[in-house]
Amino acid sequence: MAEQSVLVVEDTDEIRELVVTVLTRAGMDVRAVATGAEAIEEVRRSTPDVVVLDLGLPDADGTEVCRQIRAESECYVLMLTARAEEVDLLIGLAVGADGYMSKPFSPRELVARVQVMLRRPRVAAAPEPAAVEEHVRRLAELEVDEDSREVRVDGAVVDLTRTEFDLLAALASRPGRVLQRETLLREVWQTDWEGSVRLVEAHMSNLRRKLQAAGLSTPEIKTVRGVGYRLVA
Ligand code: CA
Repeated sequence: MAEQSVLVVEDTDEIRELVVTVLTRAGMDVRAVATGAEAIEEVRRSTPDVVVLDLGLPDADGTEVCRQIRAESECYVLMLTARAEEVDLLIGLAVGADGYMSKPFSPRELVARVQVMLRRPRVAAAPEPAAVEEHVRRLAELEVDEDSREVRVDGAVVDLTRTEFDLLAALASRPGRVLQRETLLREVWQTDWEGSVRLVEAHMSNLRRKLQAAGLSTPEIKTVRGVGYRLVA
């Protein structure tokens, strides 16, 4: 199995070195840069699986760097922030990071969060001809294909991030049933990290907007206020 690669983008030397050390010890192939410009160049060159991205960079706003990486790459983005309060702000801005950690963070927690991202499939699994049909869920106008990790509305592919796909796949696997936000956190992010219920809400709202823009009317993602979400035909 190929080593999984992580790009660390952090301008503070001690933090960058700490992150590189703990991830390398965990068996990952780690590269590191200190600026936004280098980050974008490195993402193009080495196509990392996960980018650990500092919000406060000397040459660019980390949120802009995140957007640009998103536009060009399928990688996961775990954003590091200087203060816990920044996390809520960033989630509200819908920057599109897959996860957030505020400094100071526990190195062990950082490794765990990156490992969860690396366990989720980077690209679609090669389909087994006989089994293809079993992994495609069809619900009215919606198709969720777990082999190709594609979502189609009336046959047309909708461009989702991997986190958005995982959320929709979780809902589509149990149509009609209410999935609590905490359940989605555990299934999609594999964490109980407090404060990240808002992360579920932010990604869900992006997912809904994309599905609506693609013309989906049935099934619909319904919010069960204060509890969670369900997919209703
Ligand atoms: Ca910084």
